[in-house]
Amino acid sequence: VLSLRGVAKRFGGLVAVNRMDFDVAEHEVLGLIGPNGSGKSTTLNLISGAFPVSAGTISLRGEPVTHLPPQDIARRGIARTFQLVRLLPSMSVLENVMAGAVFGHRRRWGHEAESVAEAMLEKVGLGGRGHMAVGQLTYIDTKRVELARALAGEPRVILLDEWLAGLNPTELEDGIRLIRSLRDEGRTIVLVEHVMDAIRSLCDRCVVMASGSKIAEGTPAEVLADPDVIRAYLGDDDA
Ligand code: ATP
Ligand code: MG
Repeated sequence: VLSLRGVAKRFGGLVAVNRMDFDVAEHEVLGLIGPNGSGKSTTLNLISGAFPVSAGTISLRGEPVTHLPPQDIARRGIARTFQLVRLLPSMSVLENVMAGAVFGHRRRWGHEAESVAEAMLEKVGLGGRGHMAVGQLTYIDTKRVELARALAGEPRVILLDEWLAGLNPTELEDGIRLIRSLRDEGRTIVLVEHVMDAIRSLCDRCVVMASGSKIAEGTPAEVLADPDVIRAYLGDDDA
């Protein structure tokens, strides 16, 4: 459903993403993994249109979306969460999630947007908390709200950038269960993640990045046993 071909991103002299090729199949959870600074978030930023690509093509269901602005990419059906949570603090929890419905793939308005938002808050475990201010939430709950906002647009593909990072063990268990429930619903997810247990238990397949390039691709068991991947995680991949 989503394809990257020769996708690259340069920031001045730095090649943050180098000729990335991968496909995400419908109903698949694809892990996009690799050490810090390897280009995972940049890749999500290219897919979601936050940054323009320097080269290559990104297509959704066979149609190029490479040079579309982020709003149009969201409308086409790609939703995301951010590594650093981005909610609008002046709006309530429900309003933040409604924004996902209004600006998302299905573009719902008014009462319809509200009922979708309420249903998604319920799904992420925040049922009945829509009236709260964003500032009153715990960290994990801000992550849940971002996930609900992404889901509210009824996207074709969801990009999660380290959604499980910074959670305590109980929260992590809940978080993995929540993502597994999305997987069981048949959603298509690109999961950028460092938590190995989550990668093993949630991903159908993984693409491994190091220094901007894809160094391995396969099942979690395959890539995590790959000597090149182990070396990259140990930090021996560059000087
Ligand atoms: P982490 O696991 O730490 O989140 P990452 O794999 O997500 O790492 P990226 O954030 O994609 O890594 O960064 C890849 C490289 O691109 C890094 O060297 C980073 O400093 C650089 N980079 C990312 N965004 C920008 C930017 N807006 N301007 C300049 N350089 C950037
Ligand atoms: Mg990142």
